[in-house]
Amino acid sequence: MNQFSDLTLFTSISVVTAIRYLIFAGIAWLLGYVIFRDKWLHRKIVQKLPASKDVRREMAHSFRTIFIFAGVGLATIWAVRRGWTQLYHDIHAYPMWWFWLSIVITIFLHDTWFYWSHRLLHHRRLFRLFHRTHHLSTNPTPWAAFAFSPGEAVVQAAIFPLAVLLLPIHPFAFGLFLMWQMFFNVIGHTGYEYNSSRLMRSPLRYFINTPTNHAMHHESMQGNFGLYFNFWDRLMRTNHRDYEARFTEVTTRARAAAEESETTQIKS
Ligand SMILES: [Zn+2]
Ligand SMILES: [Zn+2]
Repeated sequence: MNQFSDLTLFTSISVVTAIRYLIFAGIAWLLGYVIFRDKWLHRKIVQKLPASKDVRREMAHSFRTIFIFAGVGLATIWAVRRGWTQLYHDIHAYPMWWFWLSIVITIFLHDTWFYWSHRLLHHRRLFRLFHRTHHLSTNPTPWAAFAFSPGEAVVQAAIFPLAVLLLPIHPFAFGLFLMWQMFFNVIGHTGYEYNSSRLMRSPLRYFINTPTNHAMHHESMQGNFGLYFNFWDRLMRTNHRDYEARFTEVTTRARAAAEESETTQIKS
């Protein structure tokens, strides 16, 4: 790995992260805000489309974050070179079940890291400096996925060194975790609720976090601190008090609208 210069590594990490961001957020944008904008409008959590200046701001902040992520990525590679981490390159060094389990544990670790650091960033002494930038989006789009201040970008990126310091993890497993992270981050900011209305009547509601949950966080800044899962918010009683009602409103509004259009089609 030493044959690569630091600048080459920094550039490569930036380019790969930017491509991942553009692909995931770009597809979500194309589907929700271009191709199916009218068809899905009844599933739009906040019944309003964002202004283009908001989208430009979200993209600009996200691109700045990509460079900060690359900086933290480079620092993590230095730590790997010095043998401070548990990253392993020989895939057979651990059994295959560990390869998959290490991804699952990293996802749970990240969810916990995110919940508690996010709650901390809402402290009045930290909010302005760290987290206000992300909350400039009150009606976020997929492009807001990385829209952080430089300080928050470092806090968010801390999961990279944390995971490799705490767990034996293969670089490919870590890459798969990064794909999961990007996918859920984009879904959480997409502005549309994709889950079935049945979710709030099933025990899965304790587990799965929804785009409605995060959209409400952007809208009111009260509660809903979770990322992938909802159990920390449930356990610490930090879900917004109207969360389940809002989810039901958004998802049954969808059904009512769909039925209405069906009836109109039959009548005509
Ligand atoms: Zn927040
Ligand atoms: Zn957000």
